[in-house]
Amino acid sequence: RLVPLYLLGGLLLAGAIYALARQRLSFKADLRYALEHKQFYMVYQPVMELATGRCVGAEALIRWNQSDGQMVSPLVFIPAAEEHGLIQQVTLQVMEMVARDAADLIRDYPETHIAINFSAEDLHSPETEARLQTLLKDAGAASSNILIEATERGLMTPEKAKAVLISVRSSGFKVAIDDFGTGNSSLSYLATYDLDFLKIDKMFVDALGSDAPTARVAFHIIEIARSLGLQMIAEGVETQAQCDILTGAGVQYAQGWLFGKPMPMRSLVEFIGQRHRLADVPPEHVPATT
Ligand code: C2E
Ligand code: MG
Ligand code: MG
Ligand code: MG
Repeated sequence: RLVPLYLLGGLLLAGAIYALARQRLSFKADLRYALEHKQFYMVYQPVMELATGRCVGAEALIRWNQSDGQMVSPLVFIPAAEEHGLIQQVTLQVMEMVARDAADLIRDYPETHIAINFSAEDLHSPETEARLQTLLKDAGAASSNILIEATERGLMTPEKAKAVLISVRSSGFKVAIDDFGTGNSSLSYLATYDLDFLKIDKMFVDALGSDAPTARVAFHIIEIARSLGLQMIAEGVETQAQCDILTGAGVQYAQGWLFGKPMPMRSLVEFIGQRHRLADVPPEHVPATT
């Protein structure tokens, strides 16, 4: 009586493996289709200066709207694009969209920046940077309006990282280490890197206000950034309490749902205008929003 059960189990397992393999294969095809049919688009999450309440820029975040209306998270498809050798094509489309949107943004707010997330392959191919320069020039924007976000993983070895960061910054781009503290960068090397910002990962922001060890690590990260003369951007700020703790600890910038969710460029331009007006006017004169 046991034999058929084994058989059934084996069949189910084989079926599951087959389904997974098929899904991965079709994902590759879906990504190719998305690239061809321009199914990717960008949204922008405001980055706030904590001391003034002004919006100083935004992070460009990719979205994928599949033909059937299904949304796939970049946490899923960016690693898949990296694995299938398609990430540079994805990044090229990201850069095209960002350059176009940057032109709209800096026409009204020339001092603002847009952050772009670069994967390892983007960072380490000189063409990516050259291509971005050209796209920006054609759009009437400048490299000083762009912040490049690199993860510790994306930087690969310290030797490679140093060369890449020097090159990117000498072209006028600003550079941030993204998700800081979640990778495996060596602190001794960090001191020698050519950088502008450290982005404090949401994981540490979430812990603030609790007595979890992660909260203590968060304060050490802030201390490290300060001692290296780096500015900080906290990500994933959802509550006023987190915001107050970060401000008190000397963190200069933050992004998160407390301030604004990722939005289309048109909404971002409006958002920046609103925030500038609020920052300029004493609180008692701020008109009630309807
Ligand atoms: P990331 O660069 O660390 O981006 C921050 C993520 O946190 C975004 O998720 C953002 O929507 C989310 N977030 C921001 N504030 C809050 C908050 O207050 N609460 C919560 N719960 N979440 C918040 P998203 O857009 O899903 O992107 C996920 C990751 O995918 C990004 O993490 C980045 O690593 C990657 N990614 C997104 N767009 C691109 C892109 O254009 N190129 C590349 N290479 N990677 C991208
Ligand atoms: Mg990022
Ligand atoms: Mg991040
Ligand atoms: Mg993150």
